[in-house]
Amino acid sequence: MVHVRPSLIELQSYVPGRKVPGAIVLASNESPYGLLPGVASRLAELTGGLSRYPDMGAVRLLEALAARHGVAPGHIAVGAGSSEVCGQLLHTVSSAGTEAVFGWRSFEAYPILTTVAGGAAIHVPLRDHHQDLDAMAAAVTDRTRLVFVCNPNNPTSTAVGETPLRAFVDRLPEHVLVVVDEAYHEYADPSEVPDALALFGDRPNVVVLRTFSKAYALAGLRVGYCVGAPEIIAQVRKTQTPFSVSALAQEAAIAALQENEEVVRRAGLTVKERERVTHELRSLGYELPDSQANFLWLPLGQDSTAFTDHCLDNGVILRAFPGEGVRVTIGLPEENAAFLTAAAAWKTDAQ
Ligand code: PMP
Repeated sequence: MVHVRPSLIELQSYVPGRKVPGAIVLASNESPYGLLPGVASRLAELTGGLSRYPDMGAVRLLEALAARHGVAPGHIAVGAGSSEVCGQLLHTVSSAGTEAVFGWRSFEAYPILTTVAGGAAIHVPLRDHHQDLDAMAAAVTDRTRLVFVCNPNNPTSTAVGETPLRAFVDRLPEHVLVVVDEAYHEYADPSEVPDALALFGDRPNVVVLRTFSKAYALAGLRVGYCVGAPEIIAQVRKTQTPFSVSALAQEAAIAALQENEEVVRRAGLTVKERERVTHELRSLGYELPDSQANFLWLPLGQDSTAFTDHCLDNGVILRAFPGEGVRVTIGLPEENAAFLTAAAAWKTDAQ
């Protein structure tokens, strides 16, 4: 029998959102609008070159991202989705006996990737659906190497404001890498949710994580990146699986960056729908926190699985976190309407 790492045997696998043919999918926080126009045409041009390896250094993508963020390319590392970059960051700092701290519940890959990188995952309970920054700071010890702040938080949709985030980062020892995961940044209200790049661009121990999977509508092509000090970025780059960002993914990301106006327009549509669906749900008697992301959190506790099954019976796939809540991605208006009809029927049935 092969000797497998004991920590892996205990580990729960990542559970992806369900896909059922013909059903409306509001379970994976994807963009409902399809590829950005310039991306579709660029991808069609590229297929002839796919027998070759991609540019391992992703030079043109790094240049485009550097121009976007007003930094030198040496401040940026890319990966196959920000999931891979999360893993890279953990591999950069973890070893046996080290810990990574994060609020819980949060992005489900954090504990998995921490364990795979050989560290121990420290789950700090949320308070009222928010990351409890005081408790997270208190959980930092000599063993801590990395802290994730998921802003806004998946799956609870809440965000940390500028003043508490700055105070939190100021409190942490400088040897701890703070990763501000901004996967849903484009959907957040800039007057309430800070841009961590603007806030911490000069800190050697803060990196900001972004993805092309959400507002840039490229979840299927797998591109994400982090921005931070060149000293740490140089080490993060060493942990990337060689050639993990395909040529299609690199070119699609470059084309998507040129479509900023459309990205902003679509994010605006999603935010408008988010506010409408939130309002309707509250009118139906549901309690839910204000969302800063492209999804809502319904803290239904023990009813979470039954509610999700009920919605599936009505043709809408959601994401249940059994015993805790249900995450509902904001889709197209007609998809959201189908969800609201199912949510209304649930309340009627319960009377
Ligand atoms: N961070 C957060 C908070 C997420 O919710 C997700 C995706 N669900 C990711 C990172 C990873 O996304 P991707 O790997 O597609 O970039």
